[in-house]
Amino acid sequence: MFGNLISTYNPKLLLGIVTILGEKMSLTHSRKMLKEQGIRVSKPKWLRKPLPSGPEYEKIKSLLKKGGLHTVCSQAKCPNQFECYSKGTATFLILGEKCTRNCKFCAIEQSFNEAVDKDEPEKVAYAAKQMGLKYVVVTSVTRDDLEDGGAFLFAEVIHELKKNIENVFVEVLIPDFKGNEKALDTVLNANPDVLNHNVETAKNLYEKARPMADYDQSLKVLSYCKNKRPDIYVKSGLMAGLGETMEELLNTIKDIKKTGTDFITIGQYLQPSANHLRVEKFYTPEEFEEIKIICENLGFKGAASGPFVRSSYKAFEMFSLNK
Ligand code: SF4
Repeated sequence: MFGNLISTYNPKLLLGIVTILGEKMSLTHSRKMLKEQGIRVSKPKWLRKPLPSGPEYEKIKSLLKKGGLHTVCSQAKCPNQFECYSKGTATFLILGEKCTRNCKFCAIEQSFNEAVDKDEPEKVAYAAKQMGLKYVVVTSVTRDDLEDGGAFLFAEVIHELKKNIENVFVEVLIPDFKGNEKALDTVLNANPDVLNHNVETAKNLYEKARPMADYDQSLKVLSYCKNKRPDIYVKSGLMAGLGETMEELLNTIKDIKKTGTDFITIGQYLQPSANHLRVEKFYTPEEFEEIKIICENLGFKGAASGPFVRSSYKAFEMFSLNK
């Protein structure tokens, strides 16, 4: 009976029924049972946000659609879409909308040899100008199938943005380029204002969560960029809740600090679908606040830590406070 209920994938219904029928079964037990089945449990109240809508949101969505552009905001089902689109900001996703890697927490589909749109730099610059952006975030899927991982396109986008929008600031959120220093130089030589590369999770979770990535390589990317261009801000980010202990999370933060990274972001991992890694822990807003204080005490120039924090959430605020 419960098997059928589970297969209908209605966690709320199951929670209700388990609570009513099973006198000895507490809500915690039923949640645990759902988790053991790999089924998502409902989010705590501090993680509920209204669905995106409104005229500014629709305007930006249609502008991006017309320009044939993608944003990581929609691809990654980011919970801040509404807030960011409403403020006229978005994170552009270049080099296609499918990734050559298969991170188990990520909503982006896996594929190889997707075509590269060489006109993307002009399109991004045009859309950013239309949107009136003064701080543009550009990211990409990982393109292990391209010789330089797509570094050339990042450089082109930075050039086009700086050429077309007066006094614009550009943050690039790059993949690891398999540690290829020549590719990193290509991006650094284009003079982004902030170079961001996410470590994402603790070292011991890489095999489970990022089987095609390498923790130490990501740290090397950060330290290489900071050493090569101390004048460019370096940033990194983590998701909390994939199964790391607090100690492992703090050790990861310390590893990132040792690379010379200036800014850090830490947010709650949310399971994009039942096929992705489940959430092992919902950190409370208070815990996130404690993590933020620890980061500040460690000496980061900027630290954002909260349930809804994502790599580029309030990126301009963090940057402008240090400018
Ligand atoms: S490399 Fe990035 S875009 Fe690709 S699957 Fe992993 S998290 Fe997603």
